Amino acid sequence: MPHSPRPAPRIVVIGGGNAGLSLAGRLHRARMGEITVVEPRERHVYAPLQSHIAGGAARASRAVRPQGDVTPPGVRWLRDEAFTVDPGARRVHLVSGGHLDYDQLVIAAGIRMDWESIPGLPEAMATPEGISNYDFTLAARASPVLRDLRQGTVVFTQPPEPASCGAAAQKPMYLACDWWRSIGVLDDIRVILVLPDPVPFGMPSIDRELHRILDRYGVEVHYSREVRRVDAETRTLTIGHGSDEETLSYDVLHAVPPQRAPEWIAGSGLAADDDPHGFVDTDPETLQHRRHPEIWALGDAAAVATRRSGGAIRKQAKVLTANLRSVLDGREPSARYDGYSVVPFTVSRGTVVFAEFDRWGAPRPSIPFWRSLSRERRSTWIADRHVLPWVYWNLILRGRA
Ligand SMILES: Cc1cc2nc3c(=O)[nH]c(=O)nc-3n(C[C@H](O)[C@H](O)[C@H](O)COP(=O)(O)OP(=O)(O)OC[C@H]3O[C@@H](n4cnc5c(N)ncnc54)[C@H](O)[C@@H]3O)c2cc1C
Repeated sequence: MPHSPRPAPRIVVIGGGNAGLSLAGRLHRARMGEITVVEPRERHVYAPLQSHIAGGAARASRAVRPQGDVTPPGVRWLRDEAFTVDPGARRVHLVSGGHLDYDQLVIAAGIRMDWESIPGLPEAMATPEGISNYDFTLAARASPVLRDLRQGTVVFTQPPEPASCGAAAQKPMYLACDWWRSIGVLDDIRVILVLPDPVPFGMPSIDRELHRILDRYGVEVHYSREVRRVDAETRTLTIGHGSDEETLSYDVLHAVPPQRAPEWIAGSGLAADDDPHGFVDTDPETLQHRRHPEIWALGDAAAVATRRSGGAIRKQAKVLTANLRSVLDGREPSARYDGYSVVPFTVSRGTVVFAEFDRWGAPRPSIPFWRSLSRERRSTWIADRHVLPWVYWNLILRGRA
């Protein structure tokens, strides 16, 4: 009797954002199986551009494309939302009431902006003075607010880790300062930056450069502080460290909220018991779930012991594809993710300080030996503002870069 061909493995990807689509594109091109991406949104947003939009360096329309247009050819898009995962039954229950069975499951559901965790913050963001690059609508509103300001106090806040490219909170601030300086009003604007750590970033070469730039714009930095509450009526926010508390007044508040994993991940038993933020309990090197070998995770939803970023996802997608191939062929996963990640600081409207590092915070320049990318440069601005968006839409989302 001739053998009937082995059926193609059913691979379900939860989340059609940066991580889910770039992985799905790779898996399809490698002919790994039948790929279904579950994604409820109809439009796909390129989040890094929101910093440029808020800072007045890009139009909002440039960051959005219809989900159907960016889903890689050959990949099935199911417009639905995962409600819970049953790892024992290898089944995803959907919000619509249906379900999907899988042979291999990849969780790429991103991170959740936890605005409600700071009392008063949602109300403050509903006023005209509340802006943020971490929300598409608030980023679009930020642009004219920062552009038209001529005097007053602007407070920028950055949350502690975990966060999606957390230091990107600083990007619109530098862009706005450069604009205010060019039109001669920077001296009339008090710019305050509230940071979670005792340094601007955490790598000596980058911190040196950022200190110089913060001085250049005269930014008043409050280090090692968290935002505790906001009062939209009096336009004040309270920041603190331990028992120290201080109240700051603002005319404009550019806030970035604390972040955590979507709750259904922990609700499905897929997070580690000791992870208060509920990320997928992943082996940070192989990207395989620690307890369920047929489940994988990458991107902002995964616990990968490094700073989260789109740059990190490019490396993770390669490793996950190689390891899934091994497992489908009956071998052990052997590819390793070293925790590479990036933060491009837009320190003016034409220059960037480009931080690239590994899990241990050591520099990891993608162009070997070119460590000076961590200095303020025009070339890295061109890469961040012009080259990367093109690469994202045309190559990364198709699993080609
Ligand atoms: C303002 C900002 C600036 C940034 N700047 C940079 C930068 O300059 N450089 C850089 O490298 N990185 C940057 N990043 C980080 C980068 O954008 C993220 O790391 C990346 O987008 C994460 O991709 P992801 O696919 O994990 O999550 P997302 O792109 O958020 O995608 C997750 C998807 O999962 C879907 N989803 C959620 N729950 C479910 C569910 N239950 N069922 C089905 N689908 C679900 C969501 O709808 C979403 O589409 C920035 C991020 C932000 C927010």
